[in-house]
Amino acid sequence: MRDTELYRHLLGLVAPWEVGRVELSVADGRVDVWVRHPRLTRFACPDCDTQLPVYDHSAGRTWRHLDSCAFLTFLHASPPRVRCGEHGVRQARLPWAEPHSRFTTLFERLAIDVLGACDVASAAGLLRISWDEAWHLMDRGVARGLAAKPLAVPAHVGVDEKAAGKGQDYITVVSDLDAGTVEFIADERRQASLDGCFDQFTGEQLEQIQAVAMDMWEPYATSTRAHLADAENKIVFDRYHLMGYLTKAVDTVRKSENRVLAAAGDKSLTGSKYLWLYSAENLPERQQDRFAELRASDLKTARAWAIKESLRHFWSYQRRGWGAKRFKRWYFWATHSRLEPIIDAAKTLKRHEAGLLSYFAHRITNAGAEGLNSRIQAIRVSARGYRNREHFKTAIYFHLGGLQLYPATP
Ligand SMILES: [Zn+2]
Repeated sequence: MRDTELYRHLLGLVAPWEVGRVELSVADGRVDVWVRHPRLTRFACPDCDTQLPVYDHSAGRTWRHLDSCAFLTFLHASPPRVRCGEHGVRQARLPWAEPHSRFTTLFERLAIDVLGACDVASAAGLLRISWDEAWHLMDRGVARGLAAKPLAVPAHVGVDEKAAGKGQDYITVVSDLDAGTVEFIADERRQASLDGCFDQFTGEQLEQIQAVAMDMWEPYATSTRAHLADAENKIVFDRYHLMGYLTKAVDTVRKSENRVLAAAGDKSLTGSKYLWLYSAENLPERQQDRFAELRASDLKTARAWAIKESLRHFWSYQRRGWGAKRFKRWYFWATHSRLEPIIDAAKTLKRHEAGLLSYFAHRITNAGAEGLNSRIQAIRVSARGYRNREHFKTAIYFHLGGLQLYPATP
């Protein structure tokens, strides 16, 4: 088999395209393949598929293809142009690459697999492309996926804010809690951020949304009320966020108590910060004895922690009525604790009681969606190299959007 014939097969070229010339440079570790078509070949207008004679050729272009053994492989061609009576002078479609790509379709497919399996820097290294090229391929995959994605209305929506960069830079992430996919990402965490998601849907589609899990963040609640009928029964304040408020309150109690004790030379609480942040079942074994002792003490912090942990049971009730009763008792205990941070947190929860109790109608939580939160966090951590918010958004869509990222193969 002549090497031109071999490369026609390796490149998956179909008539009228054929390999004209192959050049191997051992010193550079690369193979260059020139592709051509016979004279008088007719090509289709890319807009209307009318077969037309070649009008002229664009300047020669180069595409990176899958390596041949360990040799970087490049395909070269001058794309033919046709002149369509209706659409003017247009470049014919090339079977090996999507328009404007500098990579062949087969290379893009490989790149998407590699990018899906490791971080961008490692993928760039493995694929022997630059960091910017790797991002470009990721962007293209996401753009392709978003364009092809049918508009689906999630029955259970999760809304969450994510820190995107330094300081107060946030994005709003909207997920489908049943599918475990990220459906929509917007800048910042304003009412308008979430409006953008709801505004994609018709009034009829919005009726299909049964519940929205969120933090007690007024702009999100306002947006939901503006778009959904009966929103008060559809907004579910997320249990992990609620527990987070209580955990913060416990920490505040600990800080001030520790200050008082330490001033009197008592070091009971010194270095105990992280013990109080764990839930009882997640405490590392080597810490269990010390923590058991602290919990059993008459420290204010121990009392605050017990109140916090007690709220956890609220979500295990089967019926709303029992949950409501439980909350009432808990609220009484918390507000009579004489612990200011706990009293404040309890009052905040009380003001949002409807959104707590609506949990029993829907039983949804943001943390449930196949660990979406921790996966976004992992993307963020592995993304110290993300130079900007747009990259962070692209990576979330790429890994968690449930998108069809591949280009179509001929
Ligand atoms: Zn045409």
